[in-house]
Amino acid sequence: MLAASALENLIEALKRLPGVGQKSAQRMAYHLLQHDREGARQMAKALSTATESIGHCQRCHTFSETELCLICSDGARDARLLCVVETPADQAALERTGSYRGYYFVLLGRLSPLDGIGAREIGAEELLARAAQTEVEEVILASSFTAEGEATAHVLAEALRSRGIKATRLARGVPVGSELEYVDLGTIAHALSDRR
Ligand SMILES: [Zn+2]
Repeated sequence: MLAASALENLIEALKRLPGVGQKSAQRMAYHLLQHDREGARQMAKALSTATESIGHCQRCHTFSETELCLICSDGARDARLLCVVETPADQAALERTGSYRGYYFVLLGRLSPLDGIGAREIGAEELLARAAQTEVEEVILASSFTAEGEATAHVLAEALRSRGIKATRLARGVPVGSELEYVDLGTIAHALSDRR
């Protein structure tokens, strides 16, 4: 009974991963137990360490093990540009293009009134305060091209412009309905340089 319950717990835990249902979770659990216990131990340790040591950057809110993330502590970046993304994964996608040298603000979500996620929950006030800093000349809205991402960009653009801050949006070319993190790098780089 004990063994069965540990296995069930493992399968249930694996099902928490996005896109993983009962069948895949079972396959993963059996694979780890049968072929790769060392890998499973490493995974358990990495998960435990990550959940304990990774917090959020105080300035841009992305994942960070230190108070300020590596990007925010990099004084050589262009302080006139502030790029707003929904998730740390989207930020990583933009970084991989190598064509953006400004700083970031990570919303950790997007407006979704039906789920009770409003301007406050995505840190709009903090973003506005940060954008009002004298060095910031342009806020690039790089939220996703989903309906909620578009609404988020719209609301933030209005708020920024009403305070006299220039707000631009990634250009079209990123497919409608897309999460940035799944879009190819060339397309993102294009959307970035053609922003308006
Ligand atoms: Zn940061």
